[in-house]
Amino acid sequence: MKNWKVFAALFALSIGAFSKADTRPNILFLFTDDHATQAISAYGGPLSELAPTPNLDRIAEEGMLFRKCYVTNSICGPSRAVILTGKYSHLNGFKKNSDHFDGSQQTVSKLLQKAGYQTAVIGKWHLKTEPTGFDHYEVLKGQGHYYNPSFRTEGKWEKNHEKHIGYTTDVITDRSLDWLENRDPEKPFFLMSQHKAPHGRWEPALRHLEWLDDVEVPEPETLYDDYSGRGPAAAAHKMGIADHMGDPRLMLKYSSKHTPEQFKVFDGYFRPRNEAFLAQKLEGKAKTAWHYQRYIKNYLRCVKAVDENVGRILEYLDQNDLTKNTVLIYSSDQGFYLGEHGWFDKRWMYEESFRTPLLVRWPGKITPGTVNSQDIVSNLDYAETFLEIAEAPIPDDMQGRSLVPVFQGATPKDWRTSHYYHYYESEGHGVAVHYGVFDGRYKLIRFPEEHIDSWELYDLQTDPNEMESRYGDPALADQEQRLKGELAKLRKQFLVE
Ligand code: CA
Repeated sequence: MKNWKVFAALFALSIGAFSKADTRPNILFLFTDDHATQAISAYGGPLSELAPTPNLDRIAEEGMLFRKCYVTNSICGPSRAVILTGKYSHLNGFKKNSDHFDGSQQTVSKLLQKAGYQTAVIGKWHLKTEPTGFDHYEVLKGQGHYYNPSFRTEGKWEKNHEKHIGYTTDVITDRSLDWLENRDPEKPFFLMSQHKAPHGRWEPALRHLEWLDDVEVPEPETLYDDYSGRGPAAAAHKMGIADHMGDPRLMLKYSSKHTPEQFKVFDGYFRPRNEAFLAQKLEGKAKTAWHYQRYIKNYLRCVKAVDENVGRILEYLDQNDLTKNTVLIYSSDQGFYLGEHGWFDKRWMYEESFRTPLLVRWPGKITPGTVNSQDIVSNLDYAETFLEIAEAPIPDDMQGRSLVPVFQGATPKDWRTSHYYHYYESEGHGVAVHYGVFDGRYKLIRFPEEHIDSWELYDLQTDPNEMESRYGDPALADQEQRLKGELAKLRKQFLVE
């Protein structure tokens, strides 16, 4: 295949004299599921030294790291729908994971295809309906499995299962590289390479099972949060590391998707450790502490495989002279709780799940090693960003803004100073419906359902862990009124009501 590629490249060069080559940049969107910024060492959190992510850090070192990238709805499917449409959930129709994406609507993949890009999505899709707007797709069924995944392509499930024996994070990268290798080299590409990892239930690769075995991962300072500083919503959760993980998330039980050879190694690691844990009959804080160690280590092991595979992509781009003309974007569908507030999972408008990682490398356009700590950006902006990179028109009905000027250090003067959030899935993990506004310092959250009817207000400057709601505090009455006005303005602007 390499020879074919060289031939095609030479052919493209030879016709270059007669036709203008399409030199618009490629767009490579590397995407993960539930990857918290706390688990990327470039963000410099408490886990950085223990669990470094050198390849992700390389994107930051050669590009821009965003500290204030916030989602519009912190849950898997809805975030993907926002990215594809550039519209809030109530307009793209995908508010909850139980919804089905309407693939007949306008999407960024269709618009890029129309603009002459070669488009593909490989890996996790999670929108239930068939992908549209992609020249090629290979997508997992639903959440997918960590081992030996099945892929759907061209409207049917692939039968040749030997093709995808292996660890899913590796397999998705293999297939992404295959597609890159076999693409039409004359056209710019838009590839969404989307991992299942590090979504639960956290099954590490066999090669990472023993990594971190001999260390004690530091606990977050809010692991034993009792929610006493807030309204009734947080205490009603069902996503506690102490009580709600269940055996499969703790790898006290595991799936049967392994081959017998894989199972031997996997079970050989977990079984004796599980038996030792069960024999101890731990209770209370000691049990929670064990749950946390089990959870965080498996989560970080899943991240380690992601980082290694990001390294494979970076290497491929280097070796194929694609680094310079490819905009490389790394992000996740939302953030995640790594024990903060005693939780796993996402959904809340609190920082750990509201914030998502965003790393972007664009040689020649982005100054290497830039950290953007000031601009509030969002997954709502991705579609318009892709379109501007592709020099394609941006439809008026998209609701974000292109980040291209922000990449170049020329953030428009009228850039957003606040961001609207709306979560709809009240049945999920005991998290009530809520919406709110954040201005970079103050966060106002409204829980409108009758059973939990309440407001919360946080000052992130004095209370970065959001431990004490100041709603109703006379000292913040002015801020409260101002934010209520801002919330009403944004709801009107985004056509919520
Ligand atoms: Ca997710």
